[in-house]
Amino acid sequence: MRELTSPAVVRQIINSHGFKVRKALGQNFLLDANIIDKIVDAAHLTQKDLVFEIGPGLGVLTRRIAQSAGKVLAVEIDQNLLPILDETLGHLPNAEVVHGDALKINFDQLAADRTDKQFGPEGKAYKLVANLPYYITTPILMHMLTGGFNLDILVVMMQREVAERLQASPGGKDYGSLSVAVQYYTVPEVVIRVPKTVFFPAPEVDSAVIRLTRRKVPPVTLISEETFFKVVRAAFGQRRKTLINSLTGSGLASKETWSEVLVETGINPTRRGETLSLDEFAALANTFEMSIR
Ligand code: SAM
Repeated sequence: MRELTSPAVVRQIINSHGFKVRKALGQNFLLDANIIDKIVDAAHLTQKDLVFEIGPGLGVLTRRIAQSAGKVLAVEIDQNLLPILDETLGHLPNAEVVHGDALKINFDQLAADRTDKQFGPEGKAYKLVANLPYYITTPILMHMLTGGFNLDILVVMMQREVAERLQASPGGKDYGSLSVAVQYYTVPEVVIRVPKTVFFPAPEVDSAVIRLTRRKVPPVTLISEETFFKVVRAAFGQRRKTLINSLTGSGLASKETWSEVLVETGINPTRRGETLSLDEFAALANTFEMSIR
């Protein structure tokens, strides 16, 4: 089996298929076996696991996942990669490529269609392991987290800057609505930082691998998740403004209403949205929800 971490092999495969790398699809192929091992190790895979991969590319990570998991289902959007994947993965009985757009896939449905008893008890959660296409990191994360899918661990490579936002704490410049959403659904931990040099072609930014462990119980009690996320987005809407002005600017309610809600929640209206903790956002959203009922 030819090593897909060898630049010469990668070039030869690409050329023999007349494949053109598409930057617009975030195609940056990994060339470092050590990093691939670290990504897979971070997911703690067993032979009972069903693993989804988004964007198998040439199949380098898919092969390594297949060694440790029961089955890997890899969703690839680029039709031109399918013949290559057939060549690099075709011999593996537990690796399957699905042609499609990960943003439109119902992963529970896909799992239900393919899973059989060898992957443990029915209803066992599956995992996501992927080197994400960076142009859609946030939409993919939100799709995987808000889609209600039965996923328990996501180990994903992304731009370092986004990874840092996911685990940022209140008050810092990286903390935003994405940090709040991800920390509401999961416990994020950066596993490794990855330089540009280990990809072909090299991306413009450095990367990091992050593990998101899905929470079994939400960290805060909410009256309405929908209202919570509306309030969070409103609070971060205008970063340089005070909380009261950002909330009012969102058009969700009048200044008077927000003033009352903030007083009742015990939050100073002159604070900035980015200083609020998850608990404070929950309290604010719950008080607001009660005020409009
Ligand atoms: N896993 C490979 C690796 O590590 O070398 C390739 C990773 S590359 C960063 C991202 C991959 O995602 C590319 O193969 C690209 O074609 C694919 N991709 C881009 N948009 C996608 C989408 N919406 N759904 C599924 N795959 C997508």
